[in-house]
Amino acid sequence: MPIESRISETTTGSFVEKPKTLADLRAGIVSGRTRATDLAAGYYDRIAAINPHLNVYLSLTRERALKQAEWVDAVAAKGDPLPPLAGVPVGIKDVLVMNGAPATAGSRILKGYEPPYDATAVTKLEAAGAVLLGKINCDEFAMGSSNENSAYGPVRNPVDTERVPGGSSGGSAAAVAANMAVATLGTDTGGSIRQPASFCGVVGVLPTYGRVSRYGLIAFASSLDRVGPFAANVRDAATLLGAIAGHDPKDATSSPAPVPDYAAESDRPVEGLRIGVPAEYFGEGLEPEVRTAIESGIASLAAAGCKVMPVSLPTTRYAIPTYYLVATAEASANLARFDGVRYGYRSPSSETLGAMYSHSRDEGFGAEVKRRILLGTYALSAGYYDAYYLKAQKVRRLLAEEFLRAFAEVDAIVTPTSPIPAFKLGEKTGDPLAMYLADIYTVTASLAGICGVTVPCGATKAGLPVGMQVLASHLNEGTAFRVARAVEAAQNT
Ligand code: GLN
Repeated sequence: MPIESRISETTTGSFVEKPKTLADLRAGIVSGRTRATDLAAGYYDRIAAINPHLNVYLSLTRERALKQAEWVDAVAAKGDPLPPLAGVPVGIKDVLVMNGAPATAGSRILKGYEPPYDATAVTKLEAAGAVLLGKINCDEFAMGSSNENSAYGPVRNPVDTERVPGGSSGGSAAAVAANMAVATLGTDTGGSIRQPASFCGVVGVLPTYGRVSRYGLIAFASSLDRVGPFAANVRDAATLLGAIAGHDPKDATSSPAPVPDYAAESDRPVEGLRIGVPAEYFGEGLEPEVRTAIESGIASLAAAGCKVMPVSLPTTRYAIPTYYLVATAEASANLARFDGVRYGYRSPSSETLGAMYSHSRDEGFGAEVKRRILLGTYALSAGYYDAYYLKAQKVRRLLAEEFLRAFAEVDAIVTPTSPIPAFKLGEKTGDPLAMYLADIYTVTASLAGICGVTVPCGATKAGLPVGMQVLASHLNEGTAFRVARAVEAAQNT
């Protein structure tokens, strides 16, 4: 049965449509009422209709998707048990590799590159029965907060196509908001899952550092990069995380801790949980309408029986410079491998090897990537290393310790995800510093290695979504899901 592909007409320029829940999809597939092949075909029809408006998908993996869907249908027809994500259509951010499919990372320098292997998160999703539809647009090498840094054009926000979907996983958030996939994978280095989830009105998960393998993720900043899911509701996001989390011998930083049943954890009541509210996240720069929405979300947690109390995170004020030093330093090292020799683009106009390197990099990388390579190389250079990189590492430690002290007092911390709602395309492209400063509420958890969930929490008067960020300590994703679930429940009543 093809999915409904009517475009929502409630707002001009809006493509919002909620996908079915995993529970509903599963019931349909197990009973044979829904065939995974029809479901996938329906999604491809909707993608064909909407992608020209939103620019979400960069490439489709139709053959592979249909093969997997046929397998699911065959298992269902026999009445054999089906894995948890059987037949669920999922999109993959283009920084994660899939065997034989293009992997551009939103960059011209990777144009034409087809990796010969699957990322571990991709392997795990498929093993859980998911049908992988294709590769999704993002900021170049995941550097950005608006998706405007993609070499393949910006993604538009399905809520209002004049606005950005956030970044860098803007395409992954937009895909779920516009029902171009039931769920997607994104990556978050300094907010790239949480902020676009907030801008598009969907749920996004930042797993604890090491919870999900980075194997097959095209690296931006290795000590910060995380792979995580987007979904239309908290429980589905929890199920997705359960499918991709776990130890991976191919990633030396992956955690050996057992993976809990996150969906079941998200079902637990929140009564008695202690919720911290840091004043540092409610100061200057926070738009009043965002503040009002988050405050009413906090009130709903109190009404659900949580104990809401203040916590102090004073090092927050140093988080932006710390993040942009660590992230750019690591990026400058990681991106050294793109030299025109091994992957993707090679400049045709070079007579010597040195010229080939520099022309390929000059023509292949966009302005933001070049800016970061320069900043990072500078921070790591002899004479400046101690003053910038080493200092940043020390502040990073202070920040992490501050969070640990706070988590001795509270079970979760709630904040706005972004000080502003989705802004207009082109509004901030001329001012990279303003764009960096808007990452203030997300880079802290990235530096500290802790986990978090962005959950929709009201909207502005103009109908722009606001997302609440729910943070929990290392490997306590279950608690973040529980709290997010309570916020979600209050929204739906
Ligand atoms: N906006 C932040 C940056 O530009 C975060 C990006 C990310 O999380 N990948 O670095």
